Amino acid sequence: MALLAKRPNGTQDVVPNEVYKWQTVESVVRDTAQQFGFREIRVPTFEETGLFVRSVGDTTDVVQKEMYTVSSTGDKTYTLRPEGTAGVIRAVLENGILNEGLPQKVFYTISCYRHEKAQKGRLREFHQFGCELLGAAAPAADADAIALADSVLKRLGLKNIRLNINSIGCPECRAKYREALKAYFEPHRDELCSTCQERLDKNPLRLLDCKSEEDQAIAKDAPVIIDYLCEDCSAHFEAVKKQLGIMGIDYVINPKIVRGLDYYTRTVFEFISDDIGAQGTVCGGGRYDGLIETLGGKPTPALGFAMGLERILLTMEAQGCEFMEEKTCDLYIAAMGDKAAEKTVETVTRLREEGFYVEYDLVGRGLKAQMKYADKIKAKYVIVIGDSELESGSAKLKNMATGEQTDISLGDELLDDFGAQYYELMMSTDDDFRSFVEAFAEDGENK
Ligand code: ATP
Ligand code: MG
Repeated sequence: MALLAKRPNGTQDVVPNEVYKWQTVESVVRDTAQQFGFREIRVPTFEETGLFVRSVGDTTDVVQKEMYTVSSTGDKTYTLRPEGTAGVIRAVLENGILNEGLPQKVFYTISCYRHEKAQKGRLREFHQFGCELLGAAAPAADADAIALADSVLKRLGLKNIRLNINSIGCPECRAKYREALKAYFEPHRDELCSTCQERLDKNPLRLLDCKSEEDQAIAKDAPVIIDYLCEDCSAHFEAVKKQLGIMGIDYVINPKIVRGLDYYTRTVFEFISDDIGAQGTVCGGGRYDGLIETLGGKPTPALGFAMGLERILLTMEAQGCEFMEEKTCDLYIAAMGDKAAEKTVETVTRLREEGFYVEYDLVGRGLKAQMKYADKIKAKYVIVIGDSELESGSAKLKNMATGEQTDISLGDELLDDFGAQYYELMMSTDDDFRSFVEAFAEDGENK
């Protein structure tokens, strides 16, 4: 059989056997963000092209060569989001969210699109967990966002992730730094890649972000921004470092980090994994105090970060981290004969309404094959309904792990009977369940 279509280059399918890994990451990021006071925001997959050009910056790789832009009727063009911040800020402004009081803290889990050379850890459709903290100028806010990212990584069980931080100053300190960079690179102009020759005139800071090895070698001894910070930016950076110290978060100062997007000011940071090869940056972020004004809002300090979920998963797999267990079937009901099949559907419906995960035969298998299937889907319990069960109104409930059998009513007592067995099983096999029940009971006693 020849398939008529193939998965596009640089995209991934997540098949049911693998999806629990994604669900683990998604549930940890959601819970942790909420615990830090961030609320979820959802925005469109595509935006007007101009939004990204204005915010990400027209000398960046993203805007120069990575955007998926589609034309629409008339002269408008739209672009599949290459990142989350621009669209989220657009939505925050359009919905007047900043008028609801400051700071506003939002998070999102989104797909992003960049037309890059696909390789390990670098896809054309990838996913980000991102956070934006809006309306907070204090260094404590920078540290709190970093602490959230750090917390997510730790809760996922990741180890040896290095936090690199830097300050790229404000527009004033950057103007002086630009001149210093220009002076440094000018003698090497002809050796630079063609993109960087253009960057040298338009945005020399971008030279430090070039992926070409030759250009990186030239940039090795370039002046560093930290030496050019103004007093305020310098004090801000010192305060961020102090706050990270109080929070017990280890970091290294890396003066080479400038980030791939133009909107950053002052603090920038990256979390880097050494376990997944060249594409090791699992999270990147920083402050962007000018962006909200650039997009037409009132001047508002802000910062955020985005985590690449594919790179997080690659690192978790490389490090053998644990994932959430997949839910398995609570009960499989096997039926013998048409009458029994009717009783089965009725019983399944009642139990499902109570919240149990129950399955039964949908493909016309015989009893033996049904039992095999129940085993394959790792059903915790099995009931067989045949003529004698129909007659007596009760059946044997078989614990698949122990082989133990108990009587269970198929009538009024069904839910009580099954509930009691299920409770016992969970108490003896599920630590989380048991500690939850025990804590609940203790709580009751203390009242
Ligand atoms: P890189 O330097 O690796 O290209 P970047 O600076 O372009 O990264 P950001 O725009 O800051 O990355 O995006 C934040 C995070 O999103 C990155 O740290 C990374 O984890 C992830 N990411 C970025 N581009 C891709 C991609 N093409 N495929 C998979 N993940 C990506
Ligand atoms: Mg990139």
